[in-house]
Amino acid sequence: MKDIAKKSNTDYLLNKYQIKASKKFGQNFLIDLNIIKKIVETTPVDLETCVIEIGPGIGALTEQLAMKAGKVICFEIDTRLKDVLDESLSEYQNIDIIFQDFLTVDLKKIVEECGYPKVCIVANLPYYITSDILEHIITSQADLYSIHAMVQKEVAQKLTDIHYNSPLTLMIKCIGNISLDMIISKNVFNPAPHIDSAIISIHMKEKYNSLLTEILKKSFTQKRKTIYNNLKQLFKDQTNQILSECHINPQMRPEQLTLSDYIELTKYL
Ligand code: SAM
Repeated sequence: MKDIAKKSNTDYLLNKYQIKASKKFGQNFLIDLNIIKKIVETTPVDLETCVIEIGPGIGALTEQLAMKAGKVICFEIDTRLKDVLDESLSEYQNIDIIFQDFLTVDLKKIVEECGYPKVCIVANLPYYITSDILEHIITSQADLYSIHAMVQKEVAQKLTDIHYNSPLTLMIKCIGNISLDMIISKNVFNPAPHIDSAIISIHMKEKYNSLLTEILKKSFTQKRKTIYNNLKQLFKDQTNQILSECHINPQMRPEQLTLSDYIELTKYL
């Protein structure tokens, strides 16, 4: 089907297959073709690129990606969408749809096996698991070129605020640079969510340091407490000495430490 996002096409597909957007799966379908085209235009996707899309929905974004990319591999959790996607994307030969919870996908393996020199992730993420999905992508150690994700506007603003440190923002800083590319009005979705969205992009620079996850999880267990209190579970009676060797004030809160502080601490794991 051409231009799936057109209102008449979306309505036709949702009616024909009796699909009601599922809250449980965070379904808000994009229904503005111009916005979708604009999103795809801003990505570095070309014929040498394999795109991995999380949650194709009824295929509105997938279709536009398939016209620009060499290949698109989609992961969709909602098996009710199988018949819809079979019809809506039938004329595209370069799309693979896998019905699987993305959080259980071995992304590193998928990227290695896809055979493309450049792999990008592009997705209108289900908001209920935005952070889990981003963490799953980053910690997978998959060799990605970039990530382009639609998230809630407030989340995008936090993730791109250089003064805001959380385990996820520190993980992102560890692998590359993040930017907020575009604000998207809530009115271009069906059903419309309560708040606006935004597109963030992460351009990969470094391989993820897998030890970072453990140190961040331990350090932020109780984020109102000092770094000393959080880390003493892990480093026991060596905590003060390790913090001192890393030149970290034990009275600081976890969000006051920099990425380099945490990288330094991973050496003691
Ligand atoms: N890409 C479509 C669009 O832009 O119109 C749909 C986006 S909708 C916000 C999120 C999509 O992610 C839905 O299709 C939903 O079923 C799917 N989804 C939710 N949780 C998922 C998961 N754990 N793994 C894979 N897909 C998931």
